[in-house]
Amino acid sequence: MTMLPTLPPTVDPAGAAERSRTPRPPRHLADLDLAARREAVAALGERDFRAGQLSHHYFARLVRDPARMTDIPGAARERLASALLPALLTPVREMACDGGATRKTVWRLHDGALVESVLMGYPDRVTACVSSQAGCGMGCPFCATGQAGLTRNLSTAEIVDQVVSFAGAAARGEVPGSPGRLSHVVFMGMGEPLANYNRVIEAVRRLAAPAPEGLGLSQRHITVSTVGIVPAMRRLADEDLAVTLALSLHAPDDDLRDELVPVNQRWKVAEVLQAAWDYAARTGRRVSVEYALIKDVNDQGWRADLLGRLLAPRLAHVNLIPLNPTPGSRWDASAKPVEQEFVRRLRAAGVPTTVRDTRGREIDGACGQLAASEQGRRSADDHLVRSGCRGRKAEQ
Ligand code: SAH
Ligand code: SF4
Repeated sequence: MTMLPTLPPTVDPAGAAERSRTPRPPRHLADLDLAARREAVAALGERDFRAGQLSHHYFARLVRDPARMTDIPGAARERLASALLPALLTPVREMACDGGATRKTVWRLHDGALVESVLMGYPDRVTACVSSQAGCGMGCPFCATGQAGLTRNLSTAEIVDQVVSFAGAAARGEVPGSPGRLSHVVFMGMGEPLANYNRVIEAVRRLAAPAPEGLGLSQRHITVSTVGIVPAMRRLADEDLAVTLALSLHAPDDDLRDELVPVNQRWKVAEVLQAAWDYAARTGRRVSVEYALIKDVNDQGWRADLLGRLLAPRLAHVNLIPLNPTPGSRWDASAKPVEQEFVRRLRAAGVPTTVRDTRGREIDGACGQLAASEQGRRSADDHLVRSGCRGRKAEQ
């Protein structure tokens, strides 16, 4: 491999750069906690208990249409809905696969930015994979989102609304073969969640707060996936949250990780792993180490052995992801026997290892690909026809 990123990735947790370029998304009740919603309702000249009613419709009934909020008088309903329930996400493309159990939506935001979310139904759970940013500034060369760069951070409500929208679909019975209630959220869509720290943490709090303040999900069922921004990982450990941390490692050695994950030029493998172990110690939560297997790049036996030595004594498991090649990429997924040997070596070292279910791949399921193709005005329908809907691979 010869490619080295020319610039180190930019980390802009406060979002100062994007704020100066784009108008902020409209305020929405999901941006506010219940006390702030009461204040906002009072400021509109309405009785403050209306905040609870609105919240109940949005978070418990999963209803956003004011016409269905019949316990609120008509005029007040319109006023409250236009001030606190603006439409944040407009679907521009919906695609389904696996008989409807996997469903992907590309949303247009108020300023035209595109993001995507994936809904996955299983016999025992329904998972939403959500975006935290439009684009991403971390520049991982194998990732479609990284290739497009960062457009802007999402607001708390833009993140929460992706989940609430899918929770509504699940509750309406639109996810066949599943329990019909959204239970899990993974921050594995577009963007680096810890580079949009405050808004992502607020979104997590909203998702976990009991209704009507929030959606009432278990913190443990929320996974924040990070490329390894060490100071933000340490900050996360200090929050009073028990969310699952996923660390996108992709290489056990600095030489290769510097190329695959440019942020490694700033925080090295040893440092990022130490932050992960400290998170595990603080929260008691097992860290999920993500490793996209790339043919002849990071799939050698010696790298599996090195990874095994680093992780074996720790509270961690490895989630191997067969690479989903991005358009025009010179990289490919590892051959199956190579993948199996990688798994065998990790397990022999005592590291629990799974191969990720590649759901939604045929609809450009991985990280930013569908929004990228939408942006490129390539027809997603054509793409679906070309790639077929192959059904999901079983976990090993
Ligand atoms: N920015 C965060 C979360 C979003 S990416 C992160 O990097 O962790 C979610 C996961 O998808 C990460 O583990 C990422 O490395 C992986 N990923 C990105 N592009 C991929 C591709 N083309 N094939 C397989 N996995 C990919
Ligand atoms: Fe950003 Fe994650 Fe893609 Fe890297 S893999 S560019 S951090 S979204």
